[in-house]
Amino acid sequence: MATTFPSFNALQAGKGDRVSVRRPLAPTPLLALLVVAVGIAAPGTTQARAPAAVARHVIILSLDGARADALQRVWPPSLREQGAASWSARTTLPSSTLPSHTSMVTGVGPETHHVRFNDWHPGQPRLALPSIFTEVRRGGGTVRLLVAKRKLEFLAAAELVTYLSFPRHRQGDVIETAGRTFAEERPTLLFIHVADPDDAGHRDGWMSEPYLNVIAEAPLLVARLLRDVAAAGRLGETLLIVTADHGGHDRTHGTARPEDVTIPWVALGGAARAGATLTQPIMTYDTAATVLQALGIPIPPGWQGRPVTDALAAEVPKR
Ligand SMILES: [Zn+2]
Repeated sequence: MATTFPSFNALQAGKGDRVSVRRPLAPTPLLALLVVAVGIAAPGTTQARAPAAVARHVIILSLDGARADALQRVWPPSLREQGAASWSARTTLPSSTLPSHTSMVTGVGPETHHVRFNDWHPGQPRLALPSIFTEVRRGGGTVRLLVAKRKLEFLAAAELVTYLSFPRHRQGDVIETAGRTFAEERPTLLFIHVADPDDAGHRDGWMSEPYLNVIAEAPLLVARLLRDVAAAGRLGETLLIVTADHGGHDRTHGTARPEDVTIPWVALGGAARAGATLTQPIMTYDTAATVLQALGIPIPPGWQGRPVTDALAAEVPKR
């Protein structure tokens, strides 16, 4: 292997130290001990080897109800060249918001997480399974969620989630808030949920003109987010995953029809492999594994998700 990067814990320990962030870190005695401890784990134990980190920040932008074919039509060459894209990724069944997002963040399918309901209200129990949010925090990282539907508060502990109750046509406001949140808090993992495509689909129909107009704004929102990350000086060490929970047909979704289950999956930022077309099958629970892999956090045993390694840069770019 050409380059070895410090573990996620070591990266976090250096957080706030501008010098250590700007140059590759030499292995510390503590890190060496950790590597030894991982390396000598007995066969048959569940101790996972920590992957080498390629990112210090991961942002997931989930465009609720965004069909892959709709987004592919408007995805500009500038964004194609910057990242790695699949327009044939798939979500789990039922292709509905809460079950699909649960798969996206837990690395397992509905037969394991058993979240088949699509409604949640404050005060009801929250997701209790290991997720990208619990694992990143366990590794010493920080987590923030900004969601445009209240029921997505289900996905993480209350103190991590902010419900953005902007009125209709709010995706620009959500992205503006997200850019500001990233600049102010520099979270290790930022999860952003935008609801406008789903709203337009239910109101006017998937692939209707109003729906496509909402989708046509997505590249501008993504570009704006990337600009905000760059302005914060973190673009080179950030992985942005743009995806969706499900697609839709007519004025609904939830079925196994290709229009409902096919989702976009795009990796951008300095931690993404530039100009790559992803042809391998990608499932929405692979998003969870990719997040942990990029941050150098071990993927919990039992996760169905596998990291989309073809979407990742080989190393943290030097700035
Ligand atoms: Zn919906």
